[in-house]
Amino acid sequence: MPNHKKLKIGWFSFTCCEDSTILFTELMNDHWQEWVKVLDVRHAKVLQSDNVLDELDVAFVEGAISAPDQEKKLKEIRQKSKKLIAIGACAVTGMPSAQRNEFPEEIREEINFLIERFHYGDKVKRLDEVVKVDDKVPGCPMNEKKFLEVLEQALKEFGIVN
Ligand code: SF4
Repeated sequence: MPNHKKLKIGWFSFTCCEDSTILFTELMNDHWQEWVKVLDVRHAKVLQSDNVLDELDVAFVEGAISAPDQEKKLKEIRQKSKKLIAIGACAVTGMPSAQRNEFPEEIREEINFLIERFHYGDKVKRLDEVVKVDDKVPGCPMNEKKFLEVLEQALKEFGIVN
């Protein structure tokens, strides 16, 4: 009997330039025929308009966390995901999205009206400052080889492929 079980995944972006999202979609050029058989994409705004945040096996999260509402959303994703994987340097290290953390006081004062207007937090955070992160795909944008390894590992871990 063929195995119809699929890996339930979500792809999420926070404060960033979304280049890893572009890489993810480009990887589909080569991998969509195999992925369509093994992945149940529950949430990925770049791919579809119908998205649900329910029980996920793996959440791939790109970008740094720059506002309290983003923290709340990330915690919700964590709560609904068995594994959470940080995608790209901004998610893994905070940088380059977290550059404003290093601004001198006079520059911080100049940008303060923007922080207040858009309800940003005092500091831009990497994902593991907010939630537990199970694995990381570093790189700016993400290292494609490492991403494919992490995905393959998850497919095996959840019994989707041997
Ligand atoms: S890690 Fe680099 S490519 Fe990825 S979102 Fe941040 S700045 Fe963009």
